[in-house]
Amino acid sequence: MLVYADTPARTDPEEMGKVLLERMDRGFRMLKMDVGLSLLWDVPGAVVASEHERTRKPKIRPYTMHPFTGVHITQKGVEHLVDYVARVREMIGYEMPVAADHFGYMDVESAIRLGRALEPFGLEWLEDLIPWQFTEQWRQITDAIAVPTCTGEDIYLAENFKPLLDRQAIRVAHPDPASAGGILETKRIADLAQTYGVPTALHLAATPIATMACVAIGAASETFYALEHHAADVPAWSRLVTGLPDPIIQDGHIAVPEAPGLGFGDIDEEAFTAALDPRDPAFFAETSAWDDESSYDRQWG
Ligand SMILES: [Mg+2]
Repeated sequence: MLVYADTPARTDPEEMGKVLLERMDRGFRMLKMDVGLSLLWDVPGAVVASEHERTRKPKIRPYTMHPFTGVHITQKGVEHLVDYVARVREMIGYEMPVAADHFGYMDVESAIRLGRALEPFGLEWLEDLIPWQFTEQWRQITDAIAVPTCTGEDIYLAENFKPLLDRQAIRVAHPDPASAGGILETKRIADLAQTYGVPTALHLAATPIATMACVAIGAASETFYALEHHAADVPAWSRLVTGLPDPIIQDGHIAVPEAPGLGFGDIDEEAFTAALDPRDPAFFAETSAWDDESSYDRQWG
């Protein structure tokens, strides 16, 4: 099962290139990197935005969707990102599959101009350029650029993928089994997308437990593309469960297990506890504090 390693934004393309090369040295056969507004806010003349948008921190916001921000990338901004991706491609070569994500909250025209400018770099897909709900705007972007478009990590149920598929508005479906409705529903999404000629990649930022659920889905889906992995920099990740190879990901792939269920032995509670984020060291904690608290969950990313 092909895995792609996510890589958060690095301001310096040389640094991004080094991280990607290091991932390639470790055997990863597909990669993803952040390319977008986060690289532009400090570049003079790169972004047209109100003072409110320019100074707002964090840049990820819970309520205002992309088309309502009034944020545009200038030609200088587009050229900056083109130079960035060109430098990364010079370092890692043009044969390695690389997807791009986290473009930021900008308008449709900026997404189209940027997408066109990134065409020479053979990217696997441009992800979540705008919220998934805007089917016709997704179709306009997909029609306008010769780079595959991808969305779906916030979509619940196959029926909510259908408008995007009916309109041929995306080139890659990207459900996350943890939010799409579970293992069977995600398999249904992949089967539905297949009938439209659209492959399914799986979004995931999780432990080996949900990862092995994804392996089951991918193994059962004829048009499975690749599975996301967010823990390339977490050495203990493979040891959170027992009964699987260590590391779980070898040569950029996860072997489909022979064992029943999700295919691993057990949860290693000691390993989990040791790997917890010291800022939030809770393991199966009591959660009633969140019953009346907004978690800033969004229905789009
Ligand atoms: Mg994403």
